[in-house]
Parts: sequence; structure tokens; C-alpha cells
Amino acid sequence: AASPECPPDREELGRSSWDLLHSMAAYYPERPSAEDKAAMAGFIRGLARFYPCSHCAEALRADVEAVPPRLGSREEFAGWVCEQHNIVNESLGKPAFKCDLATLDGRWRDGVAGCWQQMDQTAQESL
Ligand code: FAD
Repeated sequence: AASPECPPDREELGRSSWDLLHSMAAYYPERPSAEDKAAMAGFIRGLARFYPCSHCAEALRADVEAVPPRLGSREEFAGWVCEQHNIVNESLGKPAFKCDLATLDGRWRDGVAGCWQQMDQTAQESL
């Protein structure tokens, strides 16, 4: 029988959430307006309040309070999300990721040779 569709577990939810967070950071404005900064600050506050793994959210609230989001530019925000992810990586014994913009863009925005080969041009351009 086909396996049932199950709710995401902590790992799956974590991967999807980091996908969204790093992608949002990769496409955050180079020169955000005051409104952009306030909206992203609110998004992060909401995430830290409602992230549906309670002990993960508790740790995130403490981390965000200790080092508030840097929202002045795309490079700043992408670096901040990367550092937050590295804090979690360290607590789980996973390797740290390099947080410079070129490395982050290669993973989360521009891709490298071999990415999206199966996609047609329209799908590639849609992001
Ligand atoms: P993930 O850690 O999900 O990473 C996915 C991909 O992101 C990697 O393959 C890599 O290409 C890239 N990447 C890795 N590090 C970085 C970085 N620093 N910057 C940019 N890209 C990077 N799980 C727990 O068990 N306990 C927790 O307390 C916990 N807290 C979490 C808090 C938050 C806010 C989130 C979003 C997730 C949390 N998780 C937690 C889930 C955990 O971080 C992982 O997502 C999960 O364990 C799956 O790990 P993974 O090895 O597949 O890769």
C-alpha cells in the first residue's frame, strides 16, 4: 500500500524552514526601506514565537535576543541567517557553513554548474 502522507518531523521541517529562510535572505533587498526592515524583523519575531518545535523556538528566541537580526542590507541579513543556522548546527554536531556572500549565493541564489538542468527556462526564471 502507498505510505500515508505524514506531517513533517523535526528534521524535515528544519530543512524546509532553512530553505525558506536562506532563500528569503538571498533575495532580501540590497538597500531595504524602513518598511522592509520592519517587516522582516516582524517575520523573525513571529518565527521565534511560533516555530512548531517548542525547544527549537525557545533556543531561537534566546539567540535572536542575544544577536538581533542585521537588516541593513542583503549581505548583512544573509550573514545573520547563516550565523543563526551555524549556532543550531553546532548544537547538533553538524559542520559550520561559510557565511561569506559568495558562498551563500552559490548555495541559495545563483547555484553552480549542474543546478536546474532538468528545469525548463521558464521555471528557472520564475524565482
Ligand atoms: P540542515 O541543517 O537543515 O541544512 C540544510 C542545508 O543548508 C545544508 O544541506 C547546507 O547546504 C545548508 N546549510 C547548512 N548550514 C548552513 C548555514 N549556516 N548557512 C547557510 N546554509 C547552510 N533540530 C533539532 O534537532 N534541534 C533543534 O534545536 C533545532 N532547532 C532549529 C531551529 C530552527 C530555527 C530551524 C529552522 C531548525 C532547527 N532544527 C533543530 C532543525 C535542524 O537545524 C536541521 O534542519 C535538521 O536537523 C536537518 O538537518 P540537515 O542535516 O538535513 O541540514
